[in-house]
Amino acid sequence: MAAGIYPYFLPLTGHEGTTVTLGDRELVMCGSNNYLGLTSDPRVRKAAADALDRYGPSCTGSRFLNGNLDLHDQLESELADFYGKPAAAVISTGYQANLGTISALAGRGDVVFADRDAHASIVDGCVLSGAKHRRFRHNDAGALDRGLAAVPAQAGKLVVVDGVYSMEGDLCALPEIVEVCKRHGARLIVDDAHGLGVLDQGRGTCSHFGLTDQVDLITVTFSKSLASLGGAVVGDDDVIHYIKHHARSLIFSASATPASMAAALAALRILREEPWRPERAQQNADYLRAGLLSLGISPGESSTPVIPLRTRGVIDTLLLWRRLIDNGVYTNPVVPPAASPRLRLSLMATHTTEHLNRVLDALSGETDMFLREDQPDATDGMAELAELADSSAARP
Ligand code: PMP
Repeated sequence: MAAGIYPYFLPLTGHEGTTVTLGDRELVMCGSNNYLGLTSDPRVRKAAADALDRYGPSCTGSRFLNGNLDLHDQLESELADFYGKPAAAVISTGYQANLGTISALAGRGDVVFADRDAHASIVDGCVLSGAKHRRFRHNDAGALDRGLAAVPAQAGKLVVVDGVYSMEGDLCALPEIVEVCKRHGARLIVDDAHGLGVLDQGRGTCSHFGLTDQVDLITVTFSKSLASLGGAVVGDDDVIHYIKHHARSLIFSASATPASMAAALAALRILREEPWRPERAQQNADYLRAGLLSLGISPGESSTPVIPLRTRGVIDTLLLWRRLIDNGVYTNPVVPPAASPRLRLSLMATHTTEHLNRVLDALSGETDMFLREDQPDATDGMAELAELADSSAARP
C-alpha cells in the first residue's frame, strides 16, 4: 500500500459516468461496465428517485413473500418481450441469477459443463447444485463434444457459457456450442451480462448469432448496460416458473430495491428507443482498438467494448495501473487467479473522441510495458495446472 500500487476499494467521491473523481482529480473512467453511459442519464436517475419516493428505500423481504412489487413484475414482462421469450425471473443480482438458476435446475446425477473462462457465479452455481461439474477449454466445442459423449445417457446434461467473456471481450462460439448441445440433448444457458445492451442493437449475443430461440435460458445483469443493480433469467414459462419456486438465491434473499428496478426499467426502455447507444459503444471500442494497434499494443481477441491489455506480470500491471491513474485514466488491473495479468478497459457509448484520445495519450508512453502478440502470457501453464486441479476435484 505504501508503494501506492494497491488498486482495490478505492473511494471514488464522484461518478459522472465517463469521468470519476478520485481525491481531487478527475479521471477518464475506462473501468466501468456502464456500456451505454446510462448511469448519468437524467431519465434513469429520475425514475430511481421517483421510485424511492413512492415505494421507499427497500422491499424488506424476498420476492417470494412480502418483497414483490409491480415494478419487479413489469421489468420481467418487458425483459421477456425484449428477448422474444415467454417469461423472465428477476433476481436480486446477476451473480444470484446464475447461482439460483443453475442450482435449481441441476442436481445429483446430472453433469454441468462450463467454459473454462465462464464467470465465477457460474462456477459457484455448479458447486451449489451438487451436480458433477466439468470445465472445457475456452470456446472449444470439440472439447465439449468429447466431454458430453462420455456422460452416461441417463444423466441430465447442462452446458453454461458466457455470451461475451468478461476478461477478454471475445464472443462465445455459440453456433458450434448450440450444435453440440443439440446433438447430445444437453440444455444450454448463456450468461449475457456483457452482451445485453451491446450486441445486435442491445439484444445480445444470442440474437447477434440469430440463435435466441435455440438457447434454453439467458441470464443477464442490470449492473452493466442497464445502469442499475439486479439480474434476471429469461426463458420458457414452465422453466421460469420452476426457477421462481426453487432458486434459493431468489427465495432466501431480499428483492432488489424499488429504485434499482425503476432505473433498470427506464434504462431498458431507453435502450430500445436509442439504438445509437450500442452502436456508439462498439464504434468507440473500434476507435480505441485501432489506436492501440497503431501504438503497437495488442487488444487481444476483443471484438466488444471490453479490451484487455496484457502485461508482463503482476507487478507491471500494478505499476502501469498507477501510472495511468497519475496520467488521468482509470482502468481495472486484473491479476491471477482471475485471469493472466492485464489491464482491462471497458468503453462506453458516451465516451467522446477527446476522452479516447486522452486514454491513447496516456498509454503512448507505456508501450514497452505490454506483452507483444508473439509473447506468451506471464501465466502460461496456469490453464494446465487448473485442469489438473479440476480433474482431481471431479474424482469421487
Ligand atoms: N456474469 C458475468 C459474466 C459478469 O461479468 C458479472 C459481473 N461481473 C456477473 C455475472 C454478475 O453480475 P452482478 O454484478 O449483477 O452480480
